[in-house]
Amino acid sequence: MAKIAMKTPIVEMDGDEMTRVLWKWIKEILIEPYVDLKTEYYDLGLPERDATDDKVTELSAEATKRLGVAVKCATITPNAQRVEEYKLKKMWKSPNGTIRRILDGTVFRAPILVKGITPYVPGWKKPIVIGRHAYGDIYNSVESRVQGGQSAYLVVCDKDGKEVSRQLVHSFKGDGIVQGVHNLDASIFSFARSCFNFALDNNLPVWLGAKDTISKIYDHRFKDIFAEIYENEYRAKFEEKGIYYMYTLIDDVVARIMRSEGGVLWVCKNYDGDVMSDMVATAYGSLGMMSSVLVSPDGKYEYEAAHGTVTRHYYKWREGQETSTNSVATIWAWTGALAKRGELDGTPELTAFAKKLERATIETIESGYMTGDLIPLFKREGVTPVKLESRAFLEKIAEKL
Ligand code: NAP
Ligand code: MG
Repeated sequence: MAKIAMKTPIVEMDGDEMTRVLWKWIKEILIEPYVDLKTEYYDLGLPERDATDDKVTELSAEATKRLGVAVKCATITPNAQRVEEYKLKKMWKSPNGTIRRILDGTVFRAPILVKGITPYVPGWKKPIVIGRHAYGDIYNSVESRVQGGQSAYLVVCDKDGKEVSRQLVHSFKGDGIVQGVHNLDASIFSFARSCFNFALDNNLPVWLGAKDTISKIYDHRFKDIFAEIYENEYRAKFEEKGIYYMYTLIDDVVARIMRSEGGVLWVCKNYDGDVMSDMVATAYGSLGMMSSVLVSPDGKYEYEAAHGTVTRHYYKWREGQETSTNSVATIWAWTGALAKRGELDGTPELTAFAKKLERATIETIESGYMTGDLIPLFKREGVTPVKLESRAFLEKIAEKL
């Protein structure tokens, strides 16, 4: 067969450790034999980030703004131990944080469902996608311990430092704690647009939960901004597709999610998204089956796996031992990016190829061939699961493809 042509390149962000190993194999075994792959390559592996003073991360994000679609491998976020291990010049920031800041995007995480792996909540038949606001709340907060007898105030000043308002937070009789959090209208507006665009792209209803009854200004602002954007920019498009937007209290959303069959975009404030995305991921099975995409409000997309670089497996692989690392979420990063490229470029063959690769991957697992993490979760009548090594799993998918 003639290879499928690409019009515009995608941004390719290479990464670290075991996922870097899988990355090369996925391209070699599942993509390059079929697609005349065009990428603009950026090496976000830790040695190259260190060598370029992390410029390479910024350049890759800028390239994503220009080309519109990126695929990213998992990368190490350095801590003290990594600084030692890689002899780093400094403790570089999280590449995902840098990319998110430059693209001003929202992260959506969705589980990849296969027959034979049943979610812990048996009613969940379709993916529950979580859209997490990536700015503000406790993640950009200030806090302090307070001694008995002291008082804490919330003071707002104008640009010259003159007091505009002052509210007593609390007069402390005994020792205690206090915290100041903030958010930005602009960030919430972007968040709302990213969520509504994602819902339109994926044909999902949108549920936003917050606590506006208690937090009458802060949480209420989220409710108001989403309502305004929905009415002015999205209601007509949603109705045309037969989907809807709903705001309700966060505790009510949790109850509804448990009773639902999935198939919704659950929009979360930063903290709720942090907590709930781990709960949802666990309930669907394995970290290796969770895909992730960063969507900017002006429609730029960066696809990746939700998991990290799977360090423990890498150390084994480096010693020449066999590993059985799940590559599904990383394959989904590639198929997501290729399908989106095809859609934006008007090259349906490319999108069709991406969908076929996804189907071949799902059918491989459903017919009993999978990586070790899935073996204890898999139950399907008449199918005995077989554990494959990392590379053999990819070769099995290629056979099916
Ligand atoms: P991790 O790489 O996600 O791995 C944690 C554990 O989960 C693994 O040891 C493995 O369990 C299991 N696991 C995760 N993905 C798997 C897969 N594809 N197949 C099979 N098992 C899988 O998280 P981590 O160990 O906390 O972090 C490692 C490095 O990744 C860190 O340097 C961190 O900074 C980075 N990280 C990057 C990203 C990103 O780039 N988006 C996200 C998170 C973490 P077993 O060992 O029990 O088999
Ligand atoms: Mg979390």
